[in-house]
Amino acid sequence: MSALEPVFQPLPNVPDHPALELEVLDWWERERVFEQLRGRNRSGPKWSFIDGPVTANKALAVHTAWGRTLKDVFQRYKAMRGFDQRYQNGFDCQGLWIEVGVERELGLNSKREIEDFGLEEFARRCREKVIWSAEELTRGSKRLGQWMDWGNDYFTFSDTNIEYIWRFLKLIHERGWLYKGHRSTEWCPRCGTSLSQHELSQAGVYQDRADPSLFVRLPLRERAGQSLVIWTTTPWTLPANVAAAVHPDSEYGLRSNGEWVAVARYPTETFTRRVRGEELVGLRYSGPFDTLEPGSGVEHRVIPWDDVSMDEGTGIVHIATGCGTEDFELSKVHDLPVLMPVDEAGRFYDEYGWLHGLGTAEAADQIVGNLAERGLLVEAGLYEHRYPHCWRCDTPLIFRIADDWLIAVDGIRGQLIDANSGVSWTPDYFGKRMEDWLRNMGDWNISRRRYYGLPLPFYPCSCGRLNVIGSRAELDERALSGIEQLEELHRPWVDRVPIRCDACGGEVERIKEVGDVWLDAGIVPFSTLGWENPEWRKGGYATGASAGLSDADLPDHAYWEKWFPADWVSEMREQIRLWFYSQLFMSVALTGRAPFQAVLGYEKMLDERGREMHGSWGNMIDAEDAFARMGADVMRWQYCAQPPNQNLLFGFGPADEIKRRLLTIWNSVSFLVQYANIEGFRPMYGDLEGGPVTGAQPLDRWLHSRTQQLVAEATEALEATLTVQLIRAFDAFVDDLSNWYIRRSRRRFYSLDERAFRTLWTALVQALRVISPVMPFLAEHLWRNLVAGPCEEAPSSIFLAPWPEAGERDEGLLSEISELREIVELGRQVRSQENIKLRQPLRRLFVYGARYAQAHVEELEEELRVKDVEFQDAPLVRFSYKPNLRILGPRLGKDIVRVREALAAGDFEPGPNGGVHAAGYDLAADELLVERKEERGWAHSETLSVGLDVELDDELRLEARVLDLIHTLNTMRKEAGLQLTDRIEVTLPESDSDLLAHAEWIKQETLAVDLRPDGGELRIEKV
Ligand SMILES: [Zn+2]
Ligand SMILES: [Zn+2]
Repeated sequence: MSALEPVFQPLPNVPDHPALELEVLDWWERERVFEQLRGRNRSGPKWSFIDGPVTANKALAVHTAWGRTLKDVFQRYKAMRGFDQRYQNGFDCQGLWIEVGVERELGLNSKREIEDFGLEEFARRCREKVIWSAEELTRGSKRLGQWMDWGNDYFTFSDTNIEYIWRFLKLIHERGWLYKGHRSTEWCPRCGTSLSQHELSQAGVYQDRADPSLFVRLPLRERAGQSLVIWTTTPWTLPANVAAAVHPDSEYGLRSNGEWVAVARYPTETFTRRVRGEELVGLRYSGPFDTLEPGSGVEHRVIPWDDVSMDEGTGIVHIATGCGTEDFELSKVHDLPVLMPVDEAGRFYDEYGWLHGLGTAEAADQIVGNLAERGLLVEAGLYEHRYPHCWRCDTPLIFRIADDWLIAVDGIRGQLIDANSGVSWTPDYFGKRMEDWLRNMGDWNISRRRYYGLPLPFYPCSCGRLNVIGSRAELDERALSGIEQLEELHRPWVDRVPIRCDACGGEVERIKEVGDVWLDAGIVPFSTLGWENPEWRKGGYATGASAGLSDADLPDHAYWEKWFPADWVSEMREQIRLWFYSQLFMSVALTGRAPFQAVLGYEKMLDERGREMHGSWGNMIDAEDAFARMGADVMRWQYCAQPPNQNLLFGFGPADEIKRRLLTIWNSVSFLVQYANIEGFRPMYGDLEGGPVTGAQPLDRWLHSRTQQLVAEATEALEATLTVQLIRAFDAFVDDLSNWYIRRSRRRFYSLDERAFRTLWTALVQALRVISPVMPFLAEHLWRNLVAGPCEEAPSSIFLAPWPEAGERDEGLLSEISELREIVELGRQVRSQENIKLRQPLRRLFVYGARYAQAHVEELEEELRVKDVEFQDAPLVRFSYKPNLRILGPRLGKDIVRVREALAAGDFEPGPNGGVHAAGYDLAADELLVERKEERGWAHSETLSVGLDVELDDELRLEARVLDLIHTLNTMRKEAGLQLTDRIEVTLPESDSDLLAHAEWIKQETLAVDLRPDGGELRIEKV
């Protein structure tokens, strides 16, 4: 033996995940494994995955790594199945999220400061930020093990991407769907822009917040001494009040102090007068801030409104038409003036006198103080509610009237709903959410009053014509000046290119607005695949801002035909209203078809205690830290073990638990390696196809079948894109392999039992193959040791071997062992309930409900250490019955006493349908109260009941002591560093001399040649 090199490399006690992963990464790179795999699949069937662009404003976060892991798992799986794929990664590069990061770095905090800083330099800084982030994200993703075509990434700020969106917008305009809206909208005062409905649906937008709660008295003009009481949580809107709304059909009451409120809101109060709301309509009142110029010109009056809520406030609603969506709508119905008190930055305009220049929050205190001074404040407090915040900068939003560019959706809504109905969503309720959104969404607000984003190609002329430019070529052709300085399609350069109006020939300038970022991402299935592009352009995607950052080509239309629609896309839930939506919208508008056939969505990531992760809460986990402390495989396992319909609680605690669980497979491999090296076992690569075993031992046949079952389950899970099912199948298999096969076959590995070695080797390798998409590093590391090293004909990488095929399996045998293991588990459960240790032999095991285990009495006796097994035909669960007095009392009268006594004594016979016959009466099931009587020494599963005779006698107690002694002696052998084959002499204390009745048994189990009770301590000595 010593002359031979060991077949396998010995394994350390525990794997060092990060070290092993870095080694594998290095080896993949050197051997160009990914390139080999892509090359091999190039002629295979295609599988189209389109990457949702990751926002390029940060380094890799553990949140982002979740999605990237899922994408990698399915791309690897499909690659192992021989599918040709694109592997193009994407970066999202413009819009508010990039801008806000750069503003923070530069210490800028308003739009004016950005303009003072200079838009050219600002645009360059935004680009630099993207470059930095793209490098970081690439580095982190590679470390995670994600295989992508790095270097050929798409960047959404490329001119190519922008031109494709221009083309889409021109088409929308031609269809008559584009319009400029004048409406009330959620507005971020810090970012100085309106936000769209779908942006408000993002995580973190609605936050708990305490706002002022004010009850304000508004004196009625025609009724001296009487006033309306209104309620508001936005004091800053009071100077814009123009009306007060009542429900025309509700009852309003007059308090003795002259205040009108809704009766339903104050049901316990007494009122001096009650009227229906409609009787108050038309009354005029003094506005809360008639002292300020804008309010003084308004005739404030009471209006009817059916939507006045009786759930909060006073039932009289303060209407500020310039500060709320419904308020604005009411202005149209009742012809009310619209006061807009604050500017883009949320500061009061000059005509608001002493409020001018104040922000909405700063103004609140002064407004409250002023109302109190003038005796108009009834009550002031705080109100806790969910309030929307800017998704980018976290500033509480306000409402403003704004002129936004919108796409009308009613003309396409039905088509969108139809297209979505053909998409397969996992989990399926995500598809329902998309449908709900499509049914209820309002028009798409596509304009943002910002700087570094898609320049909307809208050139409205004073003659009334809206010119929409559809391409760079068209811009060049119609430009009147400024083309020579146009470095890329971004502000400020593009703003310096006026065009000729195609109606009147006059000069027209572009509007200043930029586009919603979801246009940037939504166009990707067209812009990256070369839709309607006549000729393939080498490097044609690396245009404008992305020049020099990517080598991506702009393919031709034939390529688009081949890869569109995507077979599969995957992102988190909030993308339903964001990327999934914008893609679907743009695709249906351009082609009438959905851009994806299947979607995997997933819920949110929280910390391991279930809280949101925040930098400022100290519970954010840095991806670098996770790589160093958990390793990428453990992270990936954590992501993949997550059912996609539940939030993932991610952290180091769960990671430690996963590492512990992974030790089972590690130790199983280690066991094989250790004994294979001792016994000189050499594996055969061919065993991986079909398996090595025919007519061998039942246990080998079982593990072989179990392995086929695992391969089938894993394949099914991956086809259904449910990694959690793969993890469950793998976990259960490893448990069977380690805790049943190896444990029950251990002795066979102490000699060169070829069958056992081959069976175990095959099972382990197949398990590694099916888990390799989830844990590519560990799987690759062990493949190289177990397979590539000793088998010459094996591929060097696990990923260059094809996906394993599930062979035939013996379902009967699988059911048998599965039941057997369940009985053993239940038996152990009984032992633990009864506090009887496993080393205590017992007389008898009772089993009820077994269908297959009768052939395995010997295993049951060994596993549960019993002398006898009794299979029973009748259920062992006993029930106790009591009369249901409420029903039986009236029927039986005083006979109920006899019936109760008979039931308590067990003196009854079972009747039909769960009833019984007792004391001369037939009692139906619903006339009885039934309790399951748990007998001592039993445990139950859905189909099985298992009991143990827990009575001990002297013989059983003696055997338990023998087993304890054997255990102690073997521990002492180990501690003394004895070889497995060393013989010993044992000295026993006098008190243990009765154990000598089992001397032969003890000798056999401990390799003792002699046992001597001499009264001293227990000792062993090597012979
Ligand atoms: Zn903001
Ligand atoms: Zn014109």
